[in-house]
Parts: sequence; structure tokens; C-alpha cells
Amino acid sequence: MAVASAPKTWGNYIGGEWVASESGKTFESRSPSNTNDLIGEFAASTKADVEAAIQAATDAAPKWRDTNVVARSVILLKAAEILASRQNEIGRELAREEGKTLKEGIGETGRAIQILRYYAGEAQQPNGEHYPSMNLDTLLYTTREPLGVVGVITPWNFPIAIPAWKIAPALAFGNTVVFKPASATPLLAARFVDALHEAGLPAGVLNMVTGSASVVGDPIVEDDRIAAISFTGSGEVGRKMSVTAAKRGAKIQLELGGQNPAIVLADADMNHALQHVMTGAMWSTGQKCTATSRAIVHRSIVDEFTSKLLEKIEGLNVGDPLDEATHLGPVISAEAADNVVAGADRAKQEGNELLIGGGRLTDDGREHGFFVAPTLFANVDPSTHLGQEEIFGPIMGVIPVDDIDEAIAIANSVKYGLAASIFTRDLGRALHFAKKIQAGIVHINSETPGAEPQVPFGGYKGSSSYSREQGKSARDFYTQVKTVYIDPPPAS
Ligand code: NAP
Repeated sequence: MAVASAPKTWGNYIGGEWVASESGKTFESRSPSNTNDLIGEFAASTKADVEAAIQAATDAAPKWRDTNVVARSVILLKAAEILASRQNEIGRELAREEGKTLKEGIGETGRAIQILRYYAGEAQQPNGEHYPSMNLDTLLYTTREPLGVVGVITPWNFPIAIPAWKIAPALAFGNTVVFKPASATPLLAARFVDALHEAGLPAGVLNMVTGSASVVGDPIVEDDRIAAISFTGSGEVGRKMSVTAAKRGAKIQLELGGQNPAIVLADADMNHALQHVMTGAMWSTGQKCTATSRAIVHRSIVDEFTSKLLEKIEGLNVGDPLDEATHLGPVISAEAADNVVAGADRAKQEGNELLIGGGRLTDDGREHGFFVAPTLFANVDPSTHLGQEEIFGPIMGVIPVDDIDEAIAIANSVKYGLAASIFTRDLGRALHFAKKIQAGIVHINSETPGAEPQVPFGGYKGSSSYSREQGKSARDFYTQVKTVYIDPPPAS
């Protein structure tokens, strides 16, 4: 397993400078593949650090909102070029810090670059509408204006892409930002912020504070100077935040968990469906909010499908994410590994049939990491924990069904509604599914995780807060509407 090269101590980024925490303390980021691999040390911030960041963002807000959009776009494009020049290196750091494979780490860094470029363009798109007025002489139009200071709180599972898809539009549309990244992946957050710093972002426009969720996160959500909060993470934390935000009338956007179904009908291309169900469930070690957790398969093909899926899963290599032969790296933490094992144990107790996996992997150089075996259950009862809850790891179940309506009913039976797939050659059934499925992102003949940055992203039900991120939806969140009536002065 790879070992760290020259770990560095990072401060907070406040008012355009990297500064140590007022506490003088740091916390470590270590690789989930090998806890001997120290990635870096990061500021263990205090409330005073958060206060400094919020004040810096507040002070910078008036000038940034009045900076013309072309100048803002140029900075985003420059940051994209800086990241692009280091994409492989940063992708490697991502694989070390988060645990996804090197290919996925480089790919995710590419996604952050693509998002910066997209919002550099999107910033220059029309920013309002012109309406006819009842009064023929009135010029009546709307314009969208920045909210002011926004708080951005992100999870560890897409440690550079999620900060990018929140921060790039926030800046593009004229807001300043206070950013708290996940404590498990602060290096990738720092790389993103540093690229914007190098690109010439003015001091105070973006501020990053690292450290404990309660010490750093809570004051961001509670502070009246923060007009809006964009949060991605677990449902429990998100909903608690939305209560705090609602009490003070702040705007909030939540992107939460998923329990995503892939329906496979009898007429599907079997090999295509198998590949997409497997990669949808297992890539990134199953730690995507859009990962496939349930394959809901027509009873006439379920035995063949399940045995071929088992063969594919048996062929997966779990190990060092930097090794090109590896398909799955570790999960993020010991707690996450225990959670997968507990989920598998409970699935067995509830009568589901374990075909492979269900435990930790601690041999062959994996003794210092958080590796779990890819896990497949058959004949899953959809009402059990495995059929209902997000376990967030390389674990999935196959559920047999008799027809498409039963499949859709089971797919919709969970509290989540993020992504869903169907595999079929029948256009009528595909359209029926697209209409009836309760999910924000629908795939016909492709895996549940695919998401492009130019279109809205978000879920139904417990997966979201009825808001959407990315694409043009980001403008809706990061701006507010002003309606302007212009009447000519009376003729003198
Ligand atoms: P999490 O525990 O909810 O943490 C997310 C972020 O919130 C982290 O920065 C965390 O800080 C911070 N936080 C935790 N408690 C807080 C509090 N009381 N006040 C303010 N901030 C607080 O989630 P996670 O384990 O990192 O991420 C996994 C979850 O994210 C899964 O449920 C996954 O499905 C979901 N997710 C959803 C999407 C989507 O777009 N729908 C995308 C990716 C992931 P610390 O790291 O310091 O604890």
C-alpha cells in the first residue's frame, strides 16, 4: 500500500490567506486504505475561526456582487485550468484520502474542472425575464440578484466534485461563501479552494474552515449573516439543520441519501443490465448517494441474472485504490465498515439469502484499512432493513417480481427517491416507468449513478428538500428575484 509523501499542515482559508486556527490545534487526515498513511494535518477550528470566516465573507460581499460576470467567469475558468494541469496528481490524492480507485479519483477531479467551466459559461446566460404589462408604456422585467453570504457544507464521498457543484455556482452568481468540508477529506477541499485562490479570487469571497461538525458546522447554520445554506450529507443531520435554518428564515437546500432501485425486465439485454447493475452498486465501493441498492428482477430471469451477477461480483478485486488492478477500495472509516457488516448481519437475520460477502477483509495487505467484501443477497424481502435503508457500502439485494407494476410499487416503497433505472427493450414500459417512478433522476438502460452537471440533480421524498442542484437550477437557489416596473415620467 502506498505511504504518504511529505504530509503538510494546512490552515483555514480566511480573507484570502491560509491561517492557523486560533486554537493552534490540528487534526489528521489518514488514508482509509492504510491508516499509517498520513495525508495531512488540518486546522481544528474554533467558533472564533468561524466568526472570522463569516465576517470576511460579509465584508467581501458588496464588492463581489458588483463585480461583472465576465470577470467572475474568468476566475472560474482559470481555476479550472489550474486543476486541469494537476488532474492526475489531485486524482491520486483523492484516491488516497477518500479510497475510491485512481481512475475514479482522476475522473472526479475532471468533473470538478467541468463544473467550473460550465458555471463560467452559465454566469453569462440571461438573468431575468421581460413581461408584458397591463400598462402599455410600462417596461416590466425580473432580474436575479445574489443572496449575499452562503454556507456550504459537504460530505466526504465526492470530496472535490460536490464542493465544486455548490461553490462554483454560488460564486458565479455573485455570492460569497463560507465552506465547511467533511473532516474525512479536507485535503481535496483545500486543493479546490487553493485553485480558486491561485486563479485570483479576491480575498474574503471564499472562506474555508475545517474541523468538528458541531463546532464549525452549527455556527454556520445559526448565523444571521448567512443568507442560505447548501448541504449534502445524511438525512438526520440535514433535517436538523433545516429546523435551525427555518427558525431564522434562512434559505436551505438539502441533498440527502438514496436507496436506489434498478428494475430488470424479462426482455432486457441481460449482459448490459448485469454490467450496469454491478457497476451501479459497487463502483466507488458503493458509497454514492445514487448507488444501486436493489435489483428488482422479473421472476422468469431472476435465477440466471442472480447467478451471473454473483460471478461478476466474485471477480472484483478489493484492495489498494492506487493499484490499477483494483476495482474497489476501502469504505471511508471503521464505523462505515462496521455499518456494512451490521447491515449484512441484519439482512441474514431477517431471512434474506447471503450469496457472497458480508464481512471485513483484513488479509493480503488490507490489515491497516477499512475493506469490506462486496456483498450480494438474493430473494430479498423488500420490507426488510436491506430493502428499505441506505447502508452506504458495497452491498445490494436482488428482489424477484412478477410484473412491472409490482416492480415499480416495490421501487417506490422506500422513504427515498433519488435515482432509479429500468432495463428493457420495450419503449412503452420504459415510459410507463419514467412516469410512475418516484425519483428525481431516471435512467432507461443505464446505471442509477450517472449524472451530468448541466442538468438538475436531486431527489424526491426523503432524498432532497424539493430543491435541485447543478444545471440551471443552481441559479434558482443562489439568487433571488427582483421585479422591476419602469414607467415613463408623465409628459410635462
Ligand atoms: P454527514 O455525516 O451528514 O456529514 C455531511 C457534512 O455535514 C460533513 O461536513 C459533516 O462534518 C457535517 N455535519 C455533520 N453534523 C453536522 C452538524 N450538526 N452541523 C453542521 N454540520 C454537520 O454525511 P456524510 O457521512 O459525510 O455523507 C454521507 C451521506 O451523504 C449519505 O447519506 C449520502 O447518501 C449522502 N450524499 C448525498 C448526495 C446527494 O446529492 N443527494 C451526494 C453525496 C452524498 P464532519 O465531516 O466534520 O462530521
